[in-house]
Amino acid sequence: MAEIDDVLARAADGGRISAEEAELLYTEAPFHTLAEAADISRRRIIGDNIVTYIIDRNINYTNVCVTACKFCAFYRAPKHEEGWDHSMEEILRRCGEAVELGATQVMLQGGHHPEFGVEYYEALFSAVKRDYPDLVIHSIGPSEIAHMSKVSSVGIDESIARIKAAGLDSIAGAGAEMLPERPRKALAPLKEPGEVWLEIMEQAHNQGLESTATMMMGTGETAHERIEHLRMIRDVQDRTGGFRSFIPWTYQPENNHLKGRTQATAIEYLRLLSTARLFFHNVKHLQSSWLTVGKAAGQLSLHMGVDDFGSIMLEENVISSAGARNSSRLSELIELIRTADRIPAQRDTLYERMSIHWTPEDDPQDDRVRSHVSTIVKELQIKPA
Ligand code: SF4
Repeated sequence: MAEIDDVLARAADGGRISAEEAELLYTEAPFHTLAEAADISRRRIIGDNIVTYIIDRNINYTNVCVTACKFCAFYRAPKHEEGWDHSMEEILRRCGEAVELGATQVMLQGGHHPEFGVEYYEALFSAVKRDYPDLVIHSIGPSEIAHMSKVSSVGIDESIARIKAAGLDSIAGAGAEMLPERPRKALAPLKEPGEVWLEIMEQAHNQGLESTATMMMGTGETAHERIEHLRMIRDVQDRTGGFRSFIPWTYQPENNHLKGRTQATAIEYLRLLSTARLFFHNVKHLQSSWLTVGKAAGQLSLHMGVDDFGSIMLEENVISSAGARNSSRLSELIELIRTADRIPAQRDTLYERMSIHWTPEDDPQDDRVRSHVSTIVKELQIKPA
């Protein structure tokens, strides 16, 4: 179809396409032509065939949460017998283990605890920075900022300024789920509206805290709503330039109130990645989620416009609790990148390449570095060196 070819060519060349055109590509473009245009776009933006990964650890401070999202298998309501929160000492111990295994970043993530206001997060971030000044704190999201502001009865701007001063380096894009009103209300009726999530991101960007942006797909939203989610993020990016990366992932069906009634297929996911690469002319990086879609689809994503394979996350409990079981070793993930005809490289939070593994001889050899081990699903296994 001539119109599709025109839109693909313009987008691959770095031109801006409308949300309507993105929806046309997502729903109608032939799979291979869509992938090819997205890969050309990736190559133009990134400049080479290097695919990056980062070593980090997701540390959960509490599973107690008052927000009760219907897709969430991780949280427990206040006073629930399975609710917990970790002491500062335990959180710091886990940071120390992460540093020992080469992590450069921590993602501190947790529920909306009814007593955790700005003061809690100030204490948390400053303690991590005091003990591990080189560990980057890429953590929490707008939902946590909205919650802590409410608990402490302060404004959003003040909360952002205080947690930044305490040591928060950048904001993880968690909590975006689906931003358009209908699917968001169906999934997370107690979470702030999508517009508010974006307003908080914009305020953070304006205070110098950059972020990533995420999307959870596969809970029954329409193709139009998926593209609307992208449009809402791009509108903010037009004003701030503060989103470093876009990271879609697929809903995991176990142990939550939605009971797995719907899920995104691998093809839907891959098409969304390519469409996002072509639509986000102003967001530099695109990350796939092999954890939720599996290693095969994750590897294929490297030919659909993706330049970042995400985290070798030394601990992960939130998505694992909902059924994601794709744990792996660093050596295996490097092999997936290399056999996709890409060059693996470890990056830092700012996407600076720390080590490029041009040949297998350059690969890191620490076999203790395994990914997405859940301390809830299975006790973390870190053996002494
Ligand atoms: S997704 Fe986050 S905010 Fe929602 S219930 Fe789970 S822990 Fe709470």
